[in-house]
Amino acid sequence: MTLKLGCIADDFTGATDLANMLVRAGMRVVQINGVPAPQDPAPDGIDAVVVALKSRTAPVAEAVAQSLDSARWLRRHGAPMLYFKVCSTFDSTPAGNIGPVAEALVDLTGAAIVPVTPAFPENGRTVYRGHLFVGEQLLSDSPMRQHPLTPMTDANLVRVLQAQLDPARARRVGRVDQREVAGGPARIRERLDDLRRAGMTFAIVDAIEDDHLRALAAAAADLPLVVAGSGLAIGLPANHGLAPDPVSARLPPAGGRAAVVSGSCSAATRAQVADFIGRGGLALRLDPLGLAAGDDPVAKVSAALTAVATGRDPREAGSAPILVYATAEPDEVANAQAVLGRERAGSLVEHALAEVAAALVAAGVRRLVVAGGETSGACVQRLGLRQLRIGPQIDPGVPWCHAPEAAGGDGLHVALKSGNFGGVDFFSRAFDVLSAG
Ligand code: ADP
Repeated sequence: MTLKLGCIADDFTGATDLANMLVRAGMRVVQINGVPAPQDPAPDGIDAVVVALKSRTAPVAEAVAQSLDSARWLRRHGAPMLYFKVCSTFDSTPAGNIGPVAEALVDLTGAAIVPVTPAFPENGRTVYRGHLFVGEQLLSDSPMRQHPLTPMTDANLVRVLQAQLDPARARRVGRVDQREVAGGPARIRERLDDLRRAGMTFAIVDAIEDDHLRALAAAAADLPLVVAGSGLAIGLPANHGLAPDPVSARLPPAGGRAAVVSGSCSAATRAQVADFIGRGGLALRLDPLGLAAGDDPVAKVSAALTAVATGRDPREAGSAPILVYATAEPDEVANAQAVLGRERAGSLVEHALAEVAAALVAAGVRRLVVAGGETSGACVQRLGLRQLRIGPQIDPGVPWCHAPEAAGGDGLHVALKSGNFGGVDFFSRAFDVLSAG
């Protein structure tokens, strides 16, 4: 199987976001979690693979090595273009990792000029005169300036990227202005060629409307490398004659029990848990203090499932989803953290929920929603979900996925929701989307 596009995402939820965008624009997409092994075959009947790495804040050498190994695998499976997916707020430090990874990919692909844009106007990320805006604010005035790992104090992306490049290689960063972008694909192409002739390797490309990204995608059709947020994905499938089509999001039929595991304490998730309980759903709460005192979450879940199966709990056996949650209000979280420490409280909960997810799958759950970015990472690892076929979107940024190798080869439908995503009825509606799909 020859891929049309090979993507490398620098974090897990970013990978799913990009994969979801590509599916919506008509590609059939598989997400691979972690660097594919050299001998791994490319999945059948797929247009694009998105490799999900955790390289955003990893040491530079590690980020470069993992990205290069992934890139080699993608190119071996025919990907004519590599898409290095970065955060839409260009999260990085002066040491990288966007610059060093992008340079390594230039060396690998021989790219002569590389468009770079984190813009995604629909989501409030625009680039104007080379400066990144988050909503109304310059990046450097936005809350990103105080990010604990990657504080962004300069909105001028030409300067930010240039500072990350290896001075010994003397590569330079230019830019394509919004007026040129508005001139359409041929004009953009012309400008990229001018920059290349002037000795530039990278070009920060302005985009203040989604159509600017479509034009850039068309202009980039023959390039071996692009660096972008997920926004550019709206235009790339069209380069291959693909258009939005529900078939690209089709997953194998879903069955089995349904469950939700939630370790997110974000406002949206708290409302979703309250909504689920308010509808009379079967819900079990875990808390870090109980876990530290020796509570066995798996035994608690098994007892609840048995109560349903034997009719001691009147809820419809098998069909209604069960929710297991550690989701709590900020004062409860603060209290647990004061007693146990932030890390211990977090890791106790993540570990317990990952074990619960495994126990649920062992008990016949085949449709699983996980809420929380870190919680999703822990569950994906515990369940050994290496490959995810990306299916229909539940809410923006959250698609259903299918892991064919999971559950002992039975396959598992899974949706991984990062904290603040999703409408209030997400935990019930998600399962409707799957049966409707
Ligand atoms: P989000 O996507 O909302 O940020 P994450 O899963 O990434 O959610 O992060 C939530 C973190 O909070 C996890 O480390 C989780 O283990 C921890 N956590 C969940 N519930 C509690 C709780 N009741 N007390 C303390 N920490 C908790």
